[in-house]
Amino acid sequence: MKTFSKKPGAEDSSLVPCPLCAGRDFEKQWKQPNPFVRCSDCGCVYQNPQPVREHLVQRYDHEYLEYELQNEKNFFRLMELGLRDIGFDTIAKEIGTGGAFLDVGCATGMLLEAMRLRGFKVQGVEVCEPAARWGREHRQIDIYPGPVETFSCEPGSFDIAHSSHLIEHLTDPVAYIHKMHTLLKTGGYLIVTTPNIDGAQARLFGYQWRSAIDDHMVLFSKRILVKTLVSQGFSVVKTKTWGGLGAGTCNRVLKALADKAAKRFGFGDVVIILARKHADE
Ligand SMILES: [Zn+2]
Repeated sequence: MKTFSKKPGAEDSSLVPCPLCAGRDFEKQWKQPNPFVRCSDCGCVYQNPQPVREHLVQRYDHEYLEYELQNEKNFFRLMELGLRDIGFDTIAKEIGTGGAFLDVGCATGMLLEAMRLRGFKVQGVEVCEPAARWGREHRQIDIYPGPVETFSCEPGSFDIAHSSHLIEHLTDPVAYIHKMHTLLKTGGYLIVTTPNIDGAQARLFGYQWRSAIDDHMVLFSKRILVKTLVSQGFSVVKTKTWGGLGAGTCNRVLKALADKAAKRFGFGDVVIILARKHADE
């Protein structure tokens, strides 16, 4: 499965401070030509210079919808496995029927359709307008067609906020986490899935890692994502990583072994975190 990446067109870009700590000092992350730097203060890896948000969001057009439609079953299966790994069934049972589930970066709404079947009230946010429209028309799901930055809703509306492969695309991931904190009820859960720059594949492939692409503004490690969540008022309930070696890079037996080891020892290519909003001070 290929990661969607659109060749950037004529876009304005500018030098930016570290998206996590606002530090201005950085070094190149990899020696080879690529857009990623590492913050000298907090260690966050991010694109610098990076395209302005208004231009970035324009990358998600009808081509992205086509890509999603071709891959949605695979993505759904992976999301289901990730949710199982962090104990989603237990929290779903605890919340009970009628809980409110938000999926940010919901694409065509396949996960939301499944959550609705499980008894959740569902709502989506999707920057790709054709994908949001598709989900509304074909699945009758309420999907806000625009970037999460402009989505608004009553504070404390949701029991669960979920995002899979969304946070690494944002120019301001801290604002996103802060917004999810506001939109969640006290005791509500945030679930975030993103590529793991501390994983075996990132270390092995360096600048050619499959997630070191133009569309990713920030490349998180589990440690840095946990720290950021905690700084915004969440406690981390559970973390899990998975994916030892990429499909097609080795034989199936070796891949199965590497995948098992990655999950067990926490050096997988993708990290999923279950965090909880605690009571306001
Ligand atoms: Zn920093």
